[in-house]
Amino acid sequence: MSDPIFPVVFGIDFDAEAIWFGKVKEGEKRPVLFSHGAFAVREGLRPLLDLFDEHAIKATFFIPGVTAERHPDAVGEIARRGHEAASHGYRHRSITLLSREEERDELVKGIEAVERVTRVRPPTWRSPSWEFSEHTLDLLVEAGVMASANFHDRLRPYRHVRDGLPLPVVELPVQWHLADAPYFLYGGLPGRVLATPSAALEVWRDEFVGLYEDRPGSFFHLTLHVQLIGHPGRLRMLERLIRLIMDHPRARFMRCDELAASVP
Ligand SMILES: [Zn+2]
Repeated sequence: MSDPIFPVVFGIDFDAEAIWFGKVKEGEKRPVLFSHGAFAVREGLRPLLDLFDEHAIKATFFIPGVTAERHPDAVGEIARRGHEAASHGYRHRSITLLSREEERDELVKGIEAVERVTRVRPPTWRSPSWEFSEHTLDLLVEAGVMASANFHDRLRPYRHVRDGLPLPVVELPVQWHLADAPYFLYGGLPGRVLATPSAALEVWRDEFVGLYEDRPGSFFHLTLHVQLIGHPGRLRMLERLIRLIMDHPRARFMRCDELAASVP
């Protein structure tokens, strides 16, 4: 029997300005704050897509509905290059602050906005705040979502269950230390010291090797943001990680929808 494959998933938030909308009052003009998001569209996205093309990697991009509406060309290019265009809420609002009706509205409007651009209904969803409410799972099933990338409880994909019965939604768990935000998010916090790219690489590399060698049935799930990773020095670091991953023969890059479809 051949060795089992080791799935590697890159889940990338293409938030653009939407990630900052929740940080300002309704109607408040903060062009400099929003320019952190505009960077993703103007500078960050294409080099990242080129890097993935160079290594024949297909990834999953999580896109808020307002970002699909504001930047349809960029979202169309993500899909045209073979990546999964997944849903990430509508206005990137924190789910825990919403009523059930508001939460459903955000979810459905977000899915439909991406679908209008790509002509494909996104099967995968990430909560804008990596949170679920007591209603979220029901709403995901109702909306036909097949994969969630939110929980931190396991090192392997699993199917959500209710009352012992399997649901259509597969969880692809994420980890805070396997994300770029803790190292590189400016977040409008003056004086915050950012990590060096090599500090992030050290954690990601050690975790990849540990999962690959020590934890059968696990997978490697890296969470990135175009506006954080899409800078030249950080992209060079990401390429070093990609080369290390590709030196491991069982590693297979997969999109979230592909990995979720393989979970019994
Ligand atoms: Zn986001």
